[in-house]
Amino acid sequence: MSKESFVFQAEVSKLLDIVARSLYSHKEVFLRELVSNASDACDRLRYEGLTTPALMEGDAALRIAIGVDDKKGTLTVTDNGIGMNRDDLVGMLGTIARSGTQAFVERLSGDAAKDVAMIGQFGVGFYSSFMVADSVEVVTRKAGEAQAWRWVSDGHGSFTVEETQRAGRGTTVTLHLNADSREFLDKGRLEGVIKRYSDHIAIPIMFDGDKDAKPLNQASALWTRSRAEIAEDQYHEFYRHVSHDLDSPWMTLHNRVEGVLSYTSLLFIPKSRPFDLFDPERKPRLKLYVRRVFITDDCGELLPGYLRFVRGIVDSEDLSLNVSREMLQRDPKLAKIRSGLVKRILGDLAKKAENAPDDYRVFWDAFGAVLKEGLYEDFENRESLLGLARFRTTAGDEPVGLAMYVERMKPGQEAIYYITGEDAAAVANSPQLEGFKARGVEVLLLTDPVDEFWVPAVAAFKGKDFRSVTRADTDLGAIAKDGDKASDKPEEPAPAGIDALIAAFKLALGKAVSDVRLSKRLTESPVCLVAKEGGMDMRLERLLKRHQQLGDDLVSAPVLEVNPDHALIRRLAGMAEGKGGGDAVAEAAHLLLDQARILEGEAVPDPVAFGRRLTAWLEKGLI
Ligand code: ADP
Ligand code: MG
Repeated sequence: MSKESFVFQAEVSKLLDIVARSLYSHKEVFLRELVSNASDACDRLRYEGLTTPALMEGDAALRIAIGVDDKKGTLTVTDNGIGMNRDDLVGMLGTIARSGTQAFVERLSGDAAKDVAMIGQFGVGFYSSFMVADSVEVVTRKAGEAQAWRWVSDGHGSFTVEETQRAGRGTTVTLHLNADSREFLDKGRLEGVIKRYSDHIAIPIMFDGDKDAKPLNQASALWTRSRAEIAEDQYHEFYRHVSHDLDSPWMTLHNRVEGVLSYTSLLFIPKSRPFDLFDPERKPRLKLYVRRVFITDDCGELLPGYLRFVRGIVDSEDLSLNVSREMLQRDPKLAKIRSGLVKRILGDLAKKAENAPDDYRVFWDAFGAVLKEGLYEDFENRESLLGLARFRTTAGDEPVGLAMYVERMKPGQEAIYYITGEDAAAVANSPQLEGFKARGVEVLLLTDPVDEFWVPAVAAFKGKDFRSVTRADTDLGAIAKDGDKASDKPEEPAPAGIDALIAAFKLALGKAVSDVRLSKRLTESPVCLVAKEGGMDMRLERLLKRHQQLGDDLVSAPVLEVNPDHALIRRLAGMAEGKGGGDAVAEAAHLLLDQARILEGEAVPDPVAFGRRLTAWLEKGLI
């Protein structure tokens, strides 16, 4: 077959443009990427070799070799791993095959500095070769196949693939170094780079031709070494290897469990959100090894979805190597490992929350919204998760834990009060909060979509119910108003005519409300809406409605609460009691209901009528 030409996937071209401008601060990282790929290729071969031993025959000692040719100005990285066939080459080295690519490319802004930060998070892998090379050649032969293939590109939009010869399985990547990168012909320099970035690689890395020489790296899986032997830098490099994140991790957890079930885990929590955190798949991305043999990085069973931001590896001593990945994933031992890992992660987070609250806040800001998913889906660990949760509250900017909230509850306060909504600033100004503020009662401001789901599921913390401030049965009567905030004047009696006003409002509003009542929660606004007793929280109801999870027939009309201390309500009460004010009171009822809806962020159902009434009232006021 003759030479075929291909253009890179558009995303790859974009990436290559950025790479070509060499925006990495350390372009030497290309070597880490190539060595990392070589090591992955060896891992994959070893796994395939379990079921097809013939693949390893004749060349069982896996290794990675680095070669330089001063005259040609080339650097080569060779492995005897799984290799690639033609389709692999076109698929893997012409596209960005990793999941979430779409999301990644959508977020590229065209602003170089921002994009580099993004790429740092995504990792450009193989394509980083073009930072140091004018052209790159890959000669590769897949294990178990006879035909070898040659892939060549200068990184400008296209590449070619053609048949070639290669003595055995594996891959050789040859970089024709550009004029600025000839430092990578120097073995001393290369050795330094390997030691720095690739020491944790479990496959021996050697210079070409030095087959019997000592490897440049330690060549033992990092997690098998004892914690005391591992420098922080080595942990960080390993983290980069498994996560593609160029930043250092926020937390490192390295543990060995021995007993009925023995396994080692080396887990990391990133500092910031991976770009695919909210992928609908919610897939955890730990790598599973069995006795040092890599099995899969697609094992959803190793962690629950709410810990999907955790990166790293688990190496089990007990799982069977001689079954398929699918069978392995159904092994009940895996569930035990998972529950051990979850306990460990939550335990370490709790320690951090206790000992380093400021640092913990960095974690919570990034992953709190995800961790809260566990509150409704992981009953077993609910108490620990409740202990880890932090909230914005009406009491100030500091995030507050539930234990702290309960400790600060007012005398007479029975419940943990909360309000939900999309925007913290808007939520904090809701009229339903007025009575709580006047009494100095702290209210949790819940603004993550997930809050609508876990609160009803959890229901209580330390015997205190969670109660929405938008529920009609919220009774603030038992809690005294704050001395300094409450006015000195004694509570005014409800104005004469208030009963008539409420009756007139009910009549005017009909089915639009399920009731009209006097409010204890308002101090400044004339009216607000609350959910009726036993009804769903209003904002949850709205969320479900918006996502078409709730038919119109199930939506319950809210309760309109009126503030008897408000001047407007007092005037209207006077009118309702007298004769002849009926029409004006009815119009006011509609206007006030629409105003309350607007404050809730709801659409006014009949904007034309609203506009007409508002104009009429303005006219009356002015004429
Ligand atoms: P990643 O390693 O994150 O998947 P890369 O850009 O580094 O991304 O590599 C892309 C793909 O190319 C790899 O997933 C792998 O399938 C293939 N590949 C790269 N180098 C090798 C190699 N030395 N041997 C076999 N396959 C390789
Ligand atoms: Mg890679």
